[in-house]
Amino acid sequence: IYERMKEECQRRGLNVHVGLLREDETPETKSDDINLKRSGCHGFCEMGPLLQIEPDGILYTHVQVEDCDDIIEQTLLRGKVIPRLLYQLDGVTYEKHEDIPFYHKQHRIVLENCGTTDAEDIDEYLAKDGYSAFEKALFEMTDEAICKEILDSGLRGRGGGGFPAGRKWESVRQQPKGKKYVVCNGDEGDPGAFMDRSIMEGNPHSIIEGMLIAGVAAGSDEGYIYVRAEYPLAVSRLRNAIARAEELGLLGDHILGTDFSFHLHVNRGAGAFVCGEGSALTASIEGNRGMPRVKPPRTVEHGLWAQPTVLNNVETFSTVPLIIRNGSKWYRSIGTEKSPGTKAFALTGNVVNTGLIEVPMGTTLREVIFDIGGGIKDGKKFKAVQIGGPSGGCLTEEHLDMPMDFDSLKKVGAMIGSGGLVVMDEDTCMVEVARFFMNFTQNESCGKCVPCREGTRRMLEILTRIVNNEGSLEDLDLLETLANTITETSLCGLGQSACKPVQSTLKYFRDEYLAHVVDKH
Ligand code: SF4
Repeated sequence: IYERMKEECQRRGLNVHVGLLREDETPETKSDDINLKRSGCHGFCEMGPLLQIEPDGILYTHVQVEDCDDIIEQTLLRGKVIPRLLYQLDGVTYEKHEDIPFYHKQHRIVLENCGTTDAEDIDEYLAKDGYSAFEKALFEMTDEAICKEILDSGLRGRGGGGFPAGRKWESVRQQPKGKKYVVCNGDEGDPGAFMDRSIMEGNPHSIIEGMLIAGVAAGSDEGYIYVRAEYPLAVSRLRNAIARAEELGLLGDHILGTDFSFHLHVNRGAGAFVCGEGSALTASIEGNRGMPRVKPPRTVEHGLWAQPTVLNNVETFSTVPLIIRNGSKWYRSIGTEKSPGTKAFALTGNVVNTGLIEVPMGTTLREVIFDIGGGIKDGKKFKAVQIGGPSGGCLTEEHLDMPMDFDSLKKVGAMIGSGGLVVMDEDTCMVEVARFFMNFTQNESCGKCVPCREGTRRMLEILTRIVNNEGSLEDLDLLETLANTITETSLCGLGQSACKPVQSTLKYFRDEYLAHVVDKH
């Protein structure tokens, strides 16, 4: 679509710019000029491909290559809107992007640039105050003050655990001077999750800037971004962003004429889910098999190549420049007291508007599924939502008005995880859902410890039996015993949370399990 738009504009003799406006131009003075650019993901996946026309804010949905001529003739040259390309909901047609209900309850700060800037153009990032937070950290703040600002902001790791990022940074800062690393976890492996992928593809400089700030704070001169190889576009955009930052002297030796040096590498992972676990991830970067190790020592003391390491995920690093630029108080004004800020979620499954969203922490499931997501597809009834992928749990109608934050979800046996939300309608078999996730975890178990390696296999066998109507009442007891044992005795988070989908479906949908089993007594 991008190429066709470019070709067609040129064929008509229109002056096409690719990238930013020239310094002497404004959108208003460019009456017959077109500034065409490719942006990262807008989030409204269900309606893609999308084409937005600025400064009017017109959003065209489901755009096809054949529509390009019309868009140029009708809209760009004559100022007429093409009704067939506009978003419609419940008989209402929406012309402007900002009026569409999908975006109303969102608060996009981390994803803000994702649908509006060209990720391959560092000038666009710089034009939006990019790297100004890094300069502030480098020239105006001490390492201690940076850690304090992140701690005061209440930023909690967005990768799953919700551990305060500032505490991690401060622990690494306090380690004796010497080699230290900053590592970004971009190994997003949950089925249905693609938040980090969109940030890496759509706003890669924000991750680099966050890592640079962590480097200044922790006293580190080297970093790695670990990305799964299934994300080739993310890998190429990150590499491009690193090369552009190096050209401008924002990465490398003696950055901006100071004593601070920072070198950044992209490391591709082979797609093992367990490599999302910190010690498995660092082992994989070192060239070893990605297997978790016993802790302590913790990563902050003994991380990559046994050196102190700041390890956070993509969304966390991407949030850091915003906090440094706007202050911890600003960040705390969003979200809840104990879970400040926003969270990006991948909304998938039987929901009308699937896509990538960002909402303040504490937003309810009802707001996410019905106000933003547009409700359940084909007028069906809501049944459950799996939150946090295979390590999370399922929530039901009774949880629809519960605020989504780290602590509220933990109380009901679920977790935000990295932010996958799979919505299920009334026709979904919850035993099959539990079997699906157990099959995934069983495949991804690294095999290092017995409870996870053998236990998940036995649970999968039992679940398969039950789904095939060959299970018994004793199988339900066995599932519960195995789930408790695996949770308590597994070595890493993968095993410790592997049984959550089974435990939560057994708790909320026991009748469905009973309907499948045969009472042999
Ligand atoms: Fe490997 Fe599972 Fe043990 Fe984790 S819990 S170390 S994934 S076998």
